[in-house]
Amino acid sequence: MNLAKHATVRDLRDATARVIAGATDEAARDKRIHNSRFLKSWRDPDGAFIIKGRMTVANGALVMAALKPIQDEIFKAARKSGAHERPEAYAADALMAICEKATTNQSSESGGKASRSNAVINIRVDIDALKRGHTENGEVCEIAGVGPIPVATATEYLGEAFLKLLVLDGVDIRTVAHMGRAIPAPLRTALEERDRVCQVPTCDMSIGLEIDHIKPFAEGGAASLENLVRLCKRHHLQKTHDGYRLKRIAAETAESEGAREARWDWRAPPDLRNTG
Ligand SMILES: [Zn+2]
Repeated sequence: MNLAKHATVRDLRDATARVIAGATDEAARDKRIHNSRFLKSWRDPDGAFIIKGRMTVANGALVMAALKPIQDEIFKAARKSGAHERPEAYAADALMAICEKATTNQSSESGGKASRSNAVINIRVDIDALKRGHTENGEVCEIAGVGPIPVATATEYLGEAFLKLLVLDGVDIRTVAHMGRAIPAPLRTALEERDRVCQVPTCDMSIGLEIDHIKPFAEGGAASLENLVRLCKRHHLQKTHDGYRLKRIAAETAESEGAREARWDWRAPPDLRNTG
């Protein structure tokens, strides 16, 4: 505007050309960035799964906008239950929550069996390792194509849907067991109705809840309403890997509890009891 008032037509034309060139540069740069977009994953030497991505700022903003509200909710629930972890840890949890929703809730949300998730995780595990609870001398327990996982994680997956369990004998696949939908849809729905938040007392997490076998599947624990409970990711990990346990509270004791009817007592493993 100011320019137009005092500038010659030639000046104006030059300036307009610069603006157009600038915009063209921006568009071209954005296109270059978009063309070089990627989402890669690999495993670190310590076994961790790493993902790295590159995309335009606009697409990145979309990713962050999807993660942020979930991250905030996880953060709030964590603070409430006394957990203090880094914001980026909760961002990772938010990503997991989105992925879990995308892979496990499709059928219940659309109300039809036709939209059953096609997410399949192939776990290869030596039957001896599965029975023992950990791998020994060269035994395999891995998500095929991704990497090794603890046997405890494999047994947890056994309770989840859409699993093909490939039992290995050495390097030869001996049995291909299609575990299918180990938790039938009506049971899953009943669980979602009953356990609307993580069932660890004082934990109100309602996002990304996972179904836990109170008595592990590998020890004969059934996929029944009595033996299943929904836990948040953090408490599920603690129960699966850190020796935490849920102990059923007798009905009459539960009556006298406060606002929420607590059904479970959350027990730290003996060696953690004194350090909190
Ligand atoms: Zn929890």
